Amino acid sequence: MIRCIGMTAEASNVTSFAMTTTGLLSSGSSISAELADVRPGTPISRDFGLRLIQCGDDDLPALLSAARAARAKFKPGVITYSRKVFLPLTNLCRDYCGYCTFRRDPGQHGAHTMTPEEVLTIARAGEKLGCTEALFSLGDKPELIFPEMRDTLRHLGYKSTLHYLEAMCELVLRETRLLPHPNPGLLSAEWITRLAAVSPSMGLMLETTSSDLLAPGAAHDNAPDKDPAKRLRTIEEAGKQNVPFTTGLLIGIGETLADRIDTLLAIRELHQRYGHIQEVIVQNFRAKPEIPMAHAPEPCQGDMLRTAAVARLLMPNVNIQAPPNLNAPYYEELLDAGINDWGGISPLTPDYINPEKPWPHLEQLRRRTESKGFQLRQRLPVYPEFLPKIASRPGLLGDKLHAMGASDGLAREMRAA
Ligand code: SF4
Repeated sequence: MIRCIGMTAEASNVTSFAMTTTGLLSSGSSISAELADVRPGTPISRDFGLRLIQCGDDDLPALLSAARAARAKFKPGVITYSRKVFLPLTNLCRDYCGYCTFRRDPGQHGAHTMTPEEVLTIARAGEKLGCTEALFSLGDKPELIFPEMRDTLRHLGYKSTLHYLEAMCELVLRETRLLPHPNPGLLSAEWITRLAAVSPSMGLMLETTSSDLLAPGAAHDNAPDKDPAKRLRTIEEAGKQNVPFTTGLLIGIGETLADRIDTLLAIRELHQRYGHIQEVIVQNFRAKPEIPMAHAPEPCQGDMLRTAAVARLLMPNVNIQAPPNLNAPYYEELLDAGINDWGGISPLTPDYINPEKPWPHLEQLRRRTESKGFQLRQRLPVYPEFLPKIASRPGLLGDKLHAMGASDGLAREMRAA
């Protein structure tokens, strides 16, 4: 086990990228005994969650074992993934997150807004490879600061990036076998309604509840759409509208361990109120030479395992995902930490957010998942527990979900087109 050396739970060094992301404390008390005393159905408190995420290596096996036991009660024997194509509709973005390699300014090398023809070409190629998800990832409202994007949208015939996204979701829904899953950033109540009409689920990473990261020099400096209060409002609005929602946290961007727990608790609280969180992603920051945070330390393996395990224990009945390409080669270890989903894996398109980290070959992922005693199953972008409600809607979306969902709500085995 890699040991992390760093700060305490309350220590904060968010005004600079040069920080260590975690500190592992010797608890001095037996986490194992306390875990054994947790009664089924009793939510884990903030204080206990904080002690769990700080646990030392001696207590780690007990933490992981408790997370595995919770997963076994929730979804025994099966690990899921979504076979997808990644559609970077536009990489122009009005935000400047310190860890982002995806975004571009107009005129910058690689800046691109996809045409409808490009969207369809990739979606159809994915269809031939058995994909069932069209993941639309894009920058947040670039037309607000870039006249070039306003020109592009005018040329395409749309008023805003969200109008264009809505049309492309509809195009994919109508013309291919894929189901859209949009990730467009902050959304108003009206836009959640509109996108929910053309997609069975959608997503927005909460990332963190720490508004300290908006400070000058921190990861979300000059990223107005990363204000945690605004992101929580979008997730809450999705809850009010019963939209199956994917969210999660990004670890290692300058937050404290207490921030991580608070982020998980904020997600738990919204899920308790609305029951709409279908999946919590635990994503780890990876440093890249071209980003402002190039020299920031990455979370270590121990960070990931503790955060994933605590996420599982705080939300025992929510799907917990960790991206395998950002954690290679430690797939087995993540399974040991209680995750039950590998997220979207594409046999066709690269991970445009982390292009230097290729997705694993599906056969390799299957072998390694099975070596831990699990079956690897393909799911749809909407998880099985949310599928019946969305599939009961009249119209094309409902019809497609009926056709694509197996009796257990996962993806029906389909021959490639
Ligand atoms: S992470 Fe998202 S919001 Fe931030 S700069 Fe990149 S594309 Fe924009």
